[in-house]
Amino acid sequence: MAAHDSVERKYVYDFAEGNKDLKDLLGGKGANLAEMTNLGLPVPPGFTITTEACKAYLTTGREPDGLAAQIEAHLESLEREMGRRLGDPDDPLLVSVRSGAKFSMPGMMETVLNVGLNDRSVVGLSAQAGRNDRFAWDSYRRLIQMFGKTVCEVPGEEFEHALDEIKRAKGTHNDLDLDADDLRGLVDAYKKIFAKHTGREFPQEPREQLDLAIRAVFDSWNAERAVLYRRQERIPADLGTAVNVVAMVFGNLGPDSGTGVAFTRDPGSGAQGIYGDYLANAQGEDVVAGIRNTVPLQELEQLDKTSYDQLLGIMARLEEHYKDLCDIEFTIERGKLWMLQTRVGKRTAAAAFVIAGQLVDEGLIDLDEALHRVNGAQLAQLMFPRFQLDHEFEAVAKGIGASPGAASGKVVFTSARAVELAAEGEAVILVRRETNPDDLNGMIAAKGILTSRGGKTSHAAVVARGMGKTCVSGADELDVNVPAKRFTVGDHVVNEGDVVSIDGTTGKVYLGEVPVMPSEVVQYFEGELDPETTDDALVRAVHRIMTHADAARRLRVRTNADTGADAARARRFGAEGIGLCRTEHMFLGDRRELVERLILASGEREREDALAALLPLQRADFVEIFREMDGLPVTVRLIDPPLHEFLPPLEQLAVNVAVAQERGEDVAKEEALLAAVRRMHEENPMLGLRGVRLGLVIPGLFAMQVRAIAEAAVAVVRDGGTACPEIMVPLVGAVQELETVRAEAERIIAEVVGDSGVEVLIGTMIEVPRAALTAGQIAEAAEFFSFGTNDLTQMGWGFSRDDVEGAFFWRYLELGIFGISPFESIDADGVGRLVRIAAEEGRAARPGLKLGVCGEHGGDPDSVHFFHEVGLDYVSCSPFRVPVARLEAGRAAITTTGSDSR
Ligand code: ADP
Ligand code: MG
Ligand code: MG
Repeated sequence: MAAHDSVERKYVYDFAEGNKDLKDLLGGKGANLAEMTNLGLPVPPGFTITTEACKAYLTTGREPDGLAAQIEAHLESLEREMGRRLGDPDDPLLVSVRSGAKFSMPGMMETVLNVGLNDRSVVGLSAQAGRNDRFAWDSYRRLIQMFGKTVCEVPGEEFEHALDEIKRAKGTHNDLDLDADDLRGLVDAYKKIFAKHTGREFPQEPREQLDLAIRAVFDSWNAERAVLYRRQERIPADLGTAVNVVAMVFGNLGPDSGTGVAFTRDPGSGAQGIYGDYLANAQGEDVVAGIRNTVPLQELEQLDKTSYDQLLGIMARLEEHYKDLCDIEFTIERGKLWMLQTRVGKRTAAAAFVIAGQLVDEGLIDLDEALHRVNGAQLAQLMFPRFQLDHEFEAVAKGIGASPGAASGKVVFTSARAVELAAEGEAVILVRRETNPDDLNGMIAAKGILTSRGGKTSHAAVVARGMGKTCVSGADELDVNVPAKRFTVGDHVVNEGDVVSIDGTTGKVYLGEVPVMPSEVVQYFEGELDPETTDDALVRAVHRIMTHADAARRLRVRTNADTGADAARARRFGAEGIGLCRTEHMFLGDRRELVERLILASGEREREDALAALLPLQRADFVEIFREMDGLPVTVRLIDPPLHEFLPPLEQLAVNVAVAQERGEDVAKEEALLAAVRRMHEENPMLGLRGVRLGLVIPGLFAMQVRAIAEAAVAVVRDGGTACPEIMVPLVGAVQELETVRAEAERIIAEVVGDSGVEVLIGTMIEVPRAALTAGQIAEAAEFFSFGTNDLTQMGWGFSRDDVEGAFFWRYLELGIFGISPFESIDADGVGRLVRIAAEEGRAARPGLKLGVCGEHGGDPDSVHFFHEVGLDYVSCSPFRVPVARLEAGRAAITTTGSDSR
């Protein structure tokens, strides 16, 4: 009984023991290998070491107690099952050691194949394969290469150089032309490289190879590029990776063997029908790395009809089972098919919508689930413009449309150069023969990625799709010469710095910059494409899912718009009112002069004249907006920025004065302006004389605006329209501020509105922390709150956005102080808490208090979910974000048991 507490943790699971829901513990790859095993599909036997073991190793720096023994036990049972022993000189069992975290991180973690080979077992392997020396030595050289690179950090190029060297000596480009002797020589060369870099011989002991490889997979969780990828994809840093140990099957045994990857539907467009790449006589990593050009999967039918038919059957079965697009990796060993991986496949934004719609039609999922499977980030991507092509632009090459979008930029050939130029604000296209994980920084920095090799499943394609970045892969007409910093295509030579345009949908490559046009999805939102009659599958799917989102959501969606044109567009995009109409632009342009008069006014009279001149202009602006938003609420914010923002900059005025003096002109006005600018200078304008403070200090300013709003509303109503104005007072921190403004406003409104039936609400922004903390008091004087989360974030954190974003946010992100900028996505714990407090206490003081948000967060997917949960009535965002907010508000409102859609 004493052993009770020390019962050992289970760190190793046989494939037959797991299932697809154990991703936290077994990682995605392990959980799905187990699921396929249990479905009875042909999976080579193996076992999974849990993420728990990895986490224990990463915290303590050593393997947890019991792990070694459990691995031993599972290895023994694997050996029994296969009838072979690991590294047996006569008849060796070989295994692969594969990473697999909860979320798939393509190419991020390390895999080592052919573990168990050494100088003696290579002979046994050859015998096992029917005296196939070529195969055995090819497998051995691959082991040294992968093991050296991923386990012992030997620079990969050195191996590649040695391989190129041998090919050159042989006069060939194709690795298949190398014979057993060449490969034996290559093994010797590889061993020397290994010894030179590690100071030791390549380990001959199979169990040592296995243990070192497992440890390397654990360590790779914290490799720089894995950390970077997680940050980019917002994957938590503490999940750890599982390790899968899988009996090797061989696709490099000859022409009746091969390896491939496939999708059950086209991951680019969502079109039905399988989609994949196949490579005969090769080991798995050759396909993914794009080493040789693959053939379309359909050609397998000619090569090996039995395996092809079996594969199609398995793919259909997987779709049925996972109720989603799956991607798979498989290998055929001498006519026998083996499944090596499956998962719910990554897809483009367009494919996500199209497939969700198809699966509803096929009866596999319902509309709630379809809505759950798409997201606002994808919709935002689909609203990007596309290339506008006419006869002037002829493609110089066509590769594979690996990740959609239209991108133009200067050509660069290295990740470092991409980062450099992007930092200077240049748009760049990263051009490579193929990318590898070391290119990640450059891929993030680039507008688009262009490669001459590799299919839709190459590293470049997979990573670009995940990032939503335009990518054309496998444009094999391109001859890319990285050291010379140029590529040639046909007769053209393109040097670093030349501009190219790439279309990630069609795969076409153009020289120079191609102009762009709006996407179909935007045309649909604009009402220019009828979803009922169009044959565009994407538009139909978007329409269907948006309709469901609108029916499901509780949050209303309004827009931030200051002009009639913006208001009209937002309304077409589905806005249900204006949540923020800024009035400051109405003080710009040719009206600046009136504002100057207002600021310089030396007495009551002059000030009143200036305001009186501004009144009709403001009124006309509001009339236009109320008309466009007929019947819908319009929240007008009284003037917010400090008045000196409307004056010319100090230096310019000083120059004007000097020049005018020189010419002997009258400088009185310029001098007065200059004096005013000096007088009004503020050290911290963000915290200075602005918002409600202006209204309280400058007599008549707010009164003029309130009058203009009320008169405009009355004018619209007299014309037969419906105006629903809401007057919003900015930067309130104390109820007394609002009460003062309110008393004057109510008087004016009563006077203007008379018996017109117009109703004007008066409310406030909640953007100063004190306002949030005294919301109960403020609610007594406010009919609505609108959270200004930009200022609330600035003041909540105590930093000014313009200063901090460039200065140190990178460091905060690097340190994980925040996972994403709090200006992009609301900081739920801190700033969000202020929102929560204000919402609760405001509603307690005034039941039915209307609550909304008008900061940029209103269009951010995660933030929308937060605002839904806090119980706001609406979010307001820029017109282009309105569809995104509608979709996310719908997603927030549904509950589904569906899988994590990451
Ligand atoms: P990644 O996560 O980068 O895809 P994998 O662990 O899936 O890495 O392995 C890389 C390649 O090696 C894949 O193509 C895979 O199919 C192949 N592979 C992995 N294990 C085996 C095995 N036991 N036998 C044959 N090929 C394998
Ligand atoms: Mg894989
Ligand atoms: Mg503000």
